[in-house]
Amino acid sequence: MFVVKSGFLYEFDFSMSLLTVNDNGLFCKQGDFYIDPWRPVKTAIITHGHSDHMRAGMGNYICHQHTVPLLKLRLGGDQVVQGVAYGERLALNGVEISFHPAGHIIGSAQIRLSYQEEVWVCSGDYKLMADGVSTPFETVECDHFITESTFGLPIYHFPPLVDVYSDINRWWRVNAAEGYNTVLLGYALGKAQNILAHADQSLGSIYLHGAVANVNQALSEVGYSFPGERITLDTVRSSIQGALIVAPPSALDTPWLRSLKPYRIAMCSGWMQLRGARRRRGVDRGFVLSDHADWTQLNSAIAKTQAKHVYVTHGYEQPFTRWMNEAHGLEAQIFKTLYSDQEEEEI
Ligand SMILES: [Zn+2]
Ligand SMILES: [Zn+2]
Repeated sequence: MFVVKSGFLYEFDFSMSLLTVNDNGLFCKQGDFYIDPWRPVKTAIITHGHSDHMRAGMGNYICHQHTVPLLKLRLGGDQVVQGVAYGERLALNGVEISFHPAGHIIGSAQIRLSYQEEVWVCSGDYKLMADGVSTPFETVECDHFITESTFGLPIYHFPPLVDVYSDINRWWRVNAAEGYNTVLLGYALGKAQNILAHADQSLGSIYLHGAVANVNQALSEVGYSFPGERITLDTVRSSIQGALIVAPPSALDTPWLRSLKPYRIAMCSGWMQLRGARRRRGVDRGFVLSDHADWTQLNSAIAKTQAKHVYVTHGYEQPFTRWMNEAHGLEAQIFKTLYSDQEEEEI
């Protein structure tokens, strides 16, 4: 079934396989559905609520039950959505489908497909480090595994999340003592909730950009609760003193942000591990906080699935595929998708 091409990459005969990539997205011909399609299709199975994976215009959506309010927030309340629990089994045209925790953000799921004794898992985005908010990653053994590769180079090694959360609180304490507000930039779905859940509320008040408050409000429909007050036009700016303010990166260089002076500002992102990243974004500090797997986590997750066939999507597809083939003796290849390789997915 495999043909050696250029020494490293393999060409797979996809005519019989359970998942293929076409112009619309990842397609399951046998089940007649797509996973995270980027063009309108009839049935879309959604791994998680980030905008590059959950797009508008699908006939009907199937996602984890905690992704449902996020989908309605982003795409409108009139969508046809079916929410399912982790581990629950569905069948579409004879293909068995189940959702398993991906540990990326609230509601994120790996999609397991089973058909005629063959098992495929599409991981969407994932991380192995438990963030204390989303359901931790679960290993699902399979024959074919589709992985992201956002941080698929050995230079990426993330510190334990608990250490980052305490660094953030320590910085907030210093800033407040010196008369500054503390602004943390992180994407509104995922990063923001992780920061809020671990913020030391004894240090002061917490305020939220509207995009973060909207996500929190949607998540409250399925039982989540996060601290922080939405900043509105009525919020008296002089009353915000020594506070922690959580906002998406798009708030940089806006009048909204300037109205919160005096502040010190930090970016929370896996990219902050790169030298010069903080300076390029023009912020005072960078915290290495990521909802993706670093190099070690990617390698470990893939090995544990025991998959012989690995398909690499958004990120460092080329070097990571080569590494899988050479070091792990796998039959890995690239799946060209339209998912973003940037971590800053806005909602
Ligand atoms: Zn994502
Ligand atoms: Zn993604």
